[in-house]
Amino acid sequence: MAGLGLRGPVCILAGKSARRDLESTWAATFGAVNLPYGVYAFGGECSVPEIARARAAAEAMGARVIVAAGGGKALDTGRAVAAELSVPAVICPTIASTDSPCSAISVIYTESGEVEGSRKHDRNPALVLVDSAVIAAAPLRMLVAGMGDALSTWFEARACIRSNARNMGGGACTRAVAALAELCWRTLQEDGVAAVQAMKSPGPVPAPALERIIEANTLLSGLGFESAGLAGAHSIHNGLCEAPEVHAYLHGEKVAFGTLCQLVLERAPAEEIAQVLAFCRSVGLPTTLDAIGLANLDDAMLARIAARSVIPGEWIHNEPFPVTAAMVAEAIREADRIGRQRA
Ligand SMILES: [Zn+2]
Repeated sequence: MAGLGLRGPVCILAGKSARRDLESTWAATFGAVNLPYGVYAFGGECSVPEIARARAAAEAMGARVIVAAGGGKALDTGRAVAAELSVPAVICPTIASTDSPCSAISVIYTESGEVEGSRKHDRNPALVLVDSAVIAAAPLRMLVAGMGDALSTWFEARACIRSNARNMGGGACTRAVAALAELCWRTLQEDGVAAVQAMKSPGPVPAPALERIIEANTLLSGLGFESAGLAGAHSIHNGLCEAPEVHAYLHGEKVAFGTLCQLVLERAPAEEIAQVLAFCRSVGLPTTLDAIGLANLDDAMLARIAARSVIPGEWIHNEPFPVTAAMVAEAIREADRIGRQRA
């Protein structure tokens, strides 16, 4: 931060485990460069009232930079506070479960945890700093879910490229970003299993395969989705969230199944679907409705999920062909059938 010319006072917004794991690091490293800092204990929900509380705390500290450390909601809150105060945000994810850290987006929830909307900020974080030893010590399920979120990146980018859709910033996808998104998928295939292995039997330093998966989940997927765009997988994820049973499952777990559905919807080649299925199985991502809590999905709920997936403004309309709710419902059933059949 000192190298980037960022000045204190620093307001660190952090959840409980981030404080436990990183407080001594903050004391040592901020002390070494004479950056004064204070810590705001994140309340747990990225809600409008929590953003207001955190902002008041940051203002009281006279903060000129916000550091957010923790999981997705802490990071989203930190970004929102930094945007409101027009100061830089520094993002320190302690898990690699989604591709949001590098983004300029905060998902806003109600205080009881329902999605209320999202805010698109003017600027991306000034710095995203990942301590891979911290990620390596987090639960394996988080890293695997991050691979699910990263799995969708190339396929959604490809859909956007085919339809010449606009990216999150309203611009066109560059060839550079297309290459990053493709590299993201290749990295998952090459290093996913080794990274899972490394999480299960950790060495003294994080294994190179784990480092590459952390990069894929965080940087490649983050740049990929924001600068190429989203498509069917994330809209089907949003549709699936209509069913209360899926709330126990992580974003990336549902996105992985949504990716399979997208490929079915696109009538992708059987070999490609088989590759994605094999990858999901090899790292433990869901490939069936059963695996995301929907073993008994009835047609009424399926219709609701499909209808929600295609509401106006959904990313699924970035697919290079018109998509209807009936097509989505059929794709979900077919993806589930394929997922079960080859298990
Ligand atoms: Zn996502």
